[in-house]
Amino acid sequence: MSKTHNLGLPRIGADRELKKALESFWAGNLSEETLLATATELRKRHWQAQADEDFVSVGDFAWYDHILEWSCTLGVIPKRFESLESGGDVTLKTLFAIARGIQSDDIKAPASEMTKWFDTNYHYIVPELTANQKFTIRREFLFEQIKEAQALGYQVKPIIPGPVTYLALSKGEGFSAGFDADDKLSLLPDLLTTYVEVLARFNALGIEWVQIDEPVATLNLSQSWQNALIESHEVLAKQGLNILVATYFESPEANKDFLLQFAANGPQGLHIDLTRGILDLDSFVAAWPKDKVLSIGVISGREIWRTDLEQTLARILPSVRVLGDKLWLAPSSSLLHVPYDVNLEAKLNLEVKQHLSFTLQKIEELQLLAAKLKAELDGTALSAEQQKAWEQQTQTLKNRRNSTQIHNPLVQQRLKDAQNINLHRPDYAVRAAVQAKRLNLPLFPTTTIGSFPQTAEIRQLRRDWKQGKCSDKDYEEGIKAQIKIAIDCQEELGIDVLVHGEAERNDMVEYFGELLGGFAFTQHGWVQSYGSRCVKPPIIYGDVSRLMPMTVSWSQYAQSLSDKFVKGMLTGPVTILQWSFVRDDQPRSETCRQLALALRDEILDLEKAGIKIIQIDEPALREGLPLRKEHWHEYLRWAVDCFLLATSGVKDDTQIHTHMCYSEFNDIIESIAELDADVITIETSRSNMELLDAFEAFHYPNEIGPGVYDIHSPNIPEKDWMVQLLKRAAEKIPAERLWVNPDCGLKTRHWSEVKAALAVMVEAAKELRGES
Ligand code: GLN
Ligand code: ZN
Repeated sequence: MSKTHNLGLPRIGADRELKKALESFWAGNLSEETLLATATELRKRHWQAQADEDFVSVGDFAWYDHILEWSCTLGVIPKRFESLESGGDVTLKTLFAIARGIQSDDIKAPASEMTKWFDTNYHYIVPELTANQKFTIRREFLFEQIKEAQALGYQVKPIIPGPVTYLALSKGEGFSAGFDADDKLSLLPDLLTTYVEVLARFNALGIEWVQIDEPVATLNLSQSWQNALIESHEVLAKQGLNILVATYFESPEANKDFLLQFAANGPQGLHIDLTRGILDLDSFVAAWPKDKVLSIGVISGREIWRTDLEQTLARILPSVRVLGDKLWLAPSSSLLHVPYDVNLEAKLNLEVKQHLSFTLQKIEELQLLAAKLKAELDGTALSAEQQKAWEQQTQTLKNRRNSTQIHNPLVQQRLKDAQNINLHRPDYAVRAAVQAKRLNLPLFPTTTIGSFPQTAEIRQLRRDWKQGKCSDKDYEEGIKAQIKIAIDCQEELGIDVLVHGEAERNDMVEYFGELLGGFAFTQHGWVQSYGSRCVKPPIIYGDVSRLMPMTVSWSQYAQSLSDKFVKGMLTGPVTILQWSFVRDDQPRSETCRQLALALRDEILDLEKAGIKIIQIDEPALREGLPLRKEHWHEYLRWAVDCFLLATSGVKDDTQIHTHMCYSEFNDIIESIAELDADVITIETSRSNMELLDAFEAFHYPNEIGPGVYDIHSPNIPEKDWMVQLLKRAAEKIPAERLWVNPDCGLKTRHWSEVKAALAVMVEAAKELRGES
């Protein structure tokens, strides 16, 4: 009989209990004892949810992040935090200090860097290694959790990050850049010694199976890293336990030969992701070493849609017949990336709700599939209850295909017609000439990225309005007052191109989602982003259409207050897509094109309303890149085309801006240029203008505002520093094409910081123009 298991569950709690406990603990309002008790209770609940499976997962819980947990277990503590330690177990205090930085009287140390976990929106704490890094077990927490679960009577499968993936995710002084820098592999022998000790500890606890996560095994790996995987797991497989190496987020297809060889040599089992890409499972299984376990991820750990169980059954049945109980069933990845329980959604549109599957529903789907498989193999029938559930699931999927709430013929027709739209505006040089005449901006024009401080007052206003405690009219007046504050401030500072300040937006994606057709919102659909931070992504369930103008009246009002130009401000199609849960019944590119058309209408309405400069933010453009390089081209093609579809309808003298941040853009700079925005404002100051390196080989053709100060820091930047940055930029890009702006929006800052920083920025621009 096939075993069923999980690769991990969300840890934050159905009601974000962990988040709340952590934040009150950090604020000094909760004792450590209560914090520990909250977490114990959550783990208990999460194990209970897996009670019908063959194992419960231990190791998926983390106080802040599971990679940080593992670093602490391995004794990877950056030097600047060591003085917090006094021998013995690495403490929670140290763990939180590494994650959040520390500013106490005796020690001041910045947090470790945080970065995105593969192609998810989860962020992990990057391990900081040194060239002579030593690893030793320095924290008992993982072993304690195993005992905790065993005491409750569960069969435990510990989950730990794999040694090769751990090194790939690490950074360190003295190592070359890049996840697969060969010099990092010099640490592998010592690291493996510690893994062997960890496995011995598991052995002593009576563990049978251990899951070791090596998601890098499906990526573009060099020979030396492939060898590292093979050699490491040859060692780990010989420690008297069964090792299940887990890969996910990518299909095994591209690395098929390598993975088959890897499985034959090393671990007792391998988990593969069947929900991504197209793998010919039958031929994979034909070549599979039959004495090894193959765990197949059949329920998406990344999407929130009900699984097509009929189709999945048909796909996997032949393999089950070949492998028998060596074939295990699981979700594709940890369920960390999906919300907890759809049944908590009392207000969700029922038509949408029936199609959704969160953590608890996915576990049910897995059990149902396993039961059906067993019935098929034994030639028996499902229980009446299971049969009903099976039929219901099949019916729901049928409904989805025919739903009039999901499929909108007008949108589809529009999409077809849009094939004839010319995506290209006249040459930049032509546009630049008419825009210069029309806009008449000074050299080194100053601007900001869009948002101004989101004060408590603004948030209260929005909340009151949403809860019906404030009339539409009062709300409009309130927001207008905020717009006026923002405009007056920019006028006073002498900024050249103004923004309205985005007071009406809680979030740059949610705001648009709420105004577009085809979107749904949950009340409890939280997903951990980093530490205690959770996001509630909008759900794009159906064809997207613009129901009404979304920003025009705010922009128009803002423009009426000033003789200077005020930028219209929109979130781009790729970013809206990237930060939402996206329907899986059509290609993502198709949904993105629908978004692009909705935004195209908004842009043309803004233009009609007299807005001469329109910014379309695409901070998430790079995030959407597939994990494997050979798929980059296809993604970038449609992503760029969607941006062009949104923006190409405007007149030559309407200036299109875009904005990007959060990533380094050097490797996709050509695609960024293809967006053909007249102006791009882009994050660069944190990386000390690393972006400019990209311009060695590539001449960025249009105007660009390389962010001159880091808005994430409360420090007021220095004028000279900004001037220097721009002078360096001017060596690569003609001064006539440079803008002066911060790195990103200012919504997280206080007004006092914003005013002081922007005043310096305006001074810097003046100096560059030779006015001061
Ligand atoms: N216009 C948005 C703002 O200023 C852009 C935010 C972002 O790039 N993430 O807040
Ligand atoms: Zn930004």
